Amino acid sequence: MSKKSKVCIIVVIFILFIILLPSSGFATNNDSRKTLVLLGNENLAPIVYKDNGIAKGVAVDIVKAMEDRIGYEVEVVPVNWEQAQKMMLNGDADGLLHINQSPERDELFDFSRPLLKSDFSMFVQNDSTSLRSIDDLRGKIVGVEAGGYPNLLLQGYEAIDIEIIVDWETSFKALSTGNLDAIIVDRWIGEYELANSRITGIKIVEPPIETRYSRIAVRKGDVETLNLINSGLKEITDDETIDKIMEQWQGKRVIYVTEDYFQTFYLRSASLFLFLVALVAIYFARKYQKLSKTLEISVKERTEELHHANEMLKAANLKLERISMTDGLTSTKNRRAFDITYNKTWKMCLRERMPLALIMIDIDNFKLFNDTYGHLTGDQTLIRIGEVIKGVIKRPGDLAARYGGEEFVVMLMNTTAEGATVVAEEIRTRIEELGIVNRETKNVVTVSLGVASVVPDNEMEPNELIDAADRALYKAKEYGRNNVTVWES
Ligand code: GH3
Ligand code: MG
Ligand code: MG
Repeated sequence: MSKKSKVCIIVVIFILFIILLPSSGFATNNDSRKTLVLLGNENLAPIVYKDNGIAKGVAVDIVKAMEDRIGYEVEVVPVNWEQAQKMMLNGDADGLLHINQSPERDELFDFSRPLLKSDFSMFVQNDSTSLRSIDDLRGKIVGVEAGGYPNLLLQGYEAIDIEIIVDWETSFKALSTGNLDAIIVDRWIGEYELANSRITGIKIVEPPIETRYSRIAVRKGDVETLNLINSGLKEITDDETIDKIMEQWQGKRVIYVTEDYFQTFYLRSASLFLFLVALVAIYFARKYQKLSKTLEISVKERTEELHHANEMLKAANLKLERISMTDGLTSTKNRRAFDITYNKTWKMCLRERMPLALIMIDIDNFKLFNDTYGHLTGDQTLIRIGEVIKGVIKRPGDLAARYGGEEFVVMLMNTTAEGATVVAEEIRTRIEELGIVNRETKNVVTVSLGVASVVPDNEMEPNELIDAADRALYKAKEYGRNNVTVWES
């Protein structure tokens, strides 16, 4: 083997030796990953506690989450807390999990960045009103954990009788029976214990005595471990892994509700509920008020509109009826109006045994008049004659109508032939007095009138009276026109 080959082999062996050299520090197992051993308080549920010999709790989950980030297995060993601190000083572990800083501890350990928030709170009996702060605890028996931060805190107060807690349940029972005056512990831990052991009659004094952030302690000067832990904590803080773990545990968090709290809670809830109900009621009352006002206005408007429309309709109907009953040329009643009224009046007179008279009126030689002056002048004459007839007929129940062409009819209720003759004569005279000259006949325009009157009976038809008046008119024409002829049966 050449000298060169020997050197190569030596270099290769050296490199392999360097690569395979076991890592220094905390590697305590044979796994390729190294292990970081942290001691935790075995009695701090739900933060760190021993469950069938296995470490559990929110702080345990947090440090376990660091494993992948730092490339170390993290093992939490739950032990008695006082003992844990001694073990740590003996070099039996790499760190203490969830420990609060204090001047005394600063002498012994270096501390990581914050881990968890602890609200150290006073737990007292429900009816206790005098215990509000540490100062009120002078001469009182106060339960604290041996290695816990509250114990360190109370060391500064000589007059306080400190009783070391070994088991939370026993101590909280002692508090509820009055054997202890107060317990100071992280609120979360106290609440958890109270809720789990269902101990009642205890309240939490607000606000907490002190709020601190727990950390991980390493041996004084162990910068490497501290940096490792801090980098792991930073990573799981930054990517919100810690928040997620906290959320999971907060979800499991059992809030211990004191009776005081219950009363306040119920009072507040009831007040809030009543307030909301009142608000809703006011809202709906206002809305209803507004709505009913709008509705009222709207109804009023619609009623007025309806009333107006109704009035218009009535007026229109009246107008229509008037039109349908009025002769378009002379404005006297038309034949239709006469037929309706005559039949009604006939029945009434039949019932009442009253005489009913008709006067049939026909203009004399009107054809000639038309031929001489034209139809328009003829129409004017018809209008004037109609007005004369209307002017003579004034009694209610009487009726003057255009019967057709240049013929008019007058109906007189409760009137005998004699009475009707007087009326007919007046009509005849007044028309003659109009003095409408017809140059062809060298006479003024006149009319012939036929009068008839009967007391209707069941043997008679209404038409018979019309027929009679017609015949009388015919006779009047025969007698030479411009006269009144009465029908004789
Ligand atoms: P008599 O004395 O016999 O009644 O003769 P007369 O010419 O009046 O004859 P008749 O009574 O038969 O009249 C019918 C004439 O009346 C026909 C027409 O010239 C005229 N006449 C009928 N209706 C109207 C009308 O609405 N307007 C006009 N201007 N004339 C009418
Ligand atoms: Mg005629
Ligand atoms: Mg005529």
